[in-house]
Amino acid sequence: MSANKKILMLPGDGIGPEVMQQTNRVINWFDKNTEVGFDIEEELVGGASYDKYNTPITDEVMEKALNADAILFGAVGGPEYDDLSFDVKPERALLKLRKDLGLFANLRPAIVFNALADASSLKIEIVRGLDIMILRELTGGIYFGEPRGIEKLSDGTRRGINTEVYSTKEIRRVGEVGFELASKRKGIVHSVEKANVMESGLLWREEMQYLYEEKFDHLKLSHMYADNCAMQLVKDPRQFDVIVTTNLFGDLLSDISAALTGSLGMLPSASLGEYNKQGIRKSLYEPVHGSAPDIRGTGKANPIAMILSFAMMLRYSLDRNKEADLIKKAVGLVLKDGLRTADIFQSGKTLVSTEKMGEEICNRLDRIAN
Ligand code: NAD
Repeated sequence: MSANKKILMLPGDGIGPEVMQQTNRVINWFDKNTEVGFDIEEELVGGASYDKYNTPITDEVMEKALNADAILFGAVGGPEYDDLSFDVKPERALLKLRKDLGLFANLRPAIVFNALADASSLKIEIVRGLDIMILRELTGGIYFGEPRGIEKLSDGTRRGINTEVYSTKEIRRVGEVGFELASKRKGIVHSVEKANVMESGLLWREEMQYLYEEKFDHLKLSHMYADNCAMQLVKDPRQFDVIVTTNLFGDLLSDISAALTGSLGMLPSASLGEYNKQGIRKSLYEPVHGSAPDIRGTGKANPIAMILSFAMMLRYSLDRNKEADLIKKAVGLVLKDGLRTADIFQSGKTLVSTEKMGEEICNRLDRIAN
């Protein structure tokens, strides 16, 4: 029997603790009903950590993050922290975790559950059954490139500078993740850049092509310009399987793909780093949404994004595809049975609270497992 997996749970602020509580319910279900076991440690992060320790993440919690098999992160931030200086803002905790854990690959699936297909802004026949993965490079590119800044010119006007930089190593390591993901899916990779107008884009295209020819030519690789990809995502999104792209283009394209699926409350994500000597990848799983201060404490938060983030953890950190599929199926069933939190509510359906949604997902897990 394998040893329990060490999970660091960081619920954070706002609705973070509310959606994490329901995820905990699902984790307990797996603890009780399967041979997958977890050792969970829960810690403060973001504003909650600032309130107690005057820092959004303590060194002790960072140490635990570095030693965990995987991290489950809720959300951080809120209006009460808006006036804090940049270095202690709640969001700094997430940036520090991403940086210190070297989380260079951001995975955002866009899945349309059949029961919610009519909630998309696109026609139902375009999005029905959609299941694509946007893989965004997270630690390089124009958000980090040097030189950067705002400088004063001799005529008194100013110039703002940011630099798009990518190296072979940065492109290949995220490319490998993309090909590996595709090999467990439909085997199709679209590599997206602007090689027509940017040298860094040309290098991206060439390195992706070399990597493909060296190791992954049993899969299918297409190169696509980012502007065309944006158009194709709203015209015919089901042509895609895995899209691998830069930090900047991934930021934009993942938001487009999110809009295809309906609600922020349904969208999970994963951020992955390098493998360590024990063959474990540093990894952090979190919903795409923020701390939603407008609905905290009202029981309106949709816990599905957080629960699906846990399913991603099972799949990508713990190699438990069967269990991850079980969660996806249970979520599909509650939606099919007409249960809806406020954000995805449609007339004729049953409005449920955060807690009830978590409870019903566990009931469906019971039903599928027996
Ligand atoms: P948000 O994602 O928190 O909320 C946007 C809208 O979506 C709100 O109306 C909210 O009620 C709704 N919403 C979000 N998640 C939901 C859920 N699970 N169920 C139902 N409705 C949901 O974004 P925002 O309002 O721009 O930001 C609020 C705070 O969160 C800010 O302090 C911001 O900095 C922070 N934030 C944190 C993260 C993170 O922790 N990763 C990400 C984004 C924003």
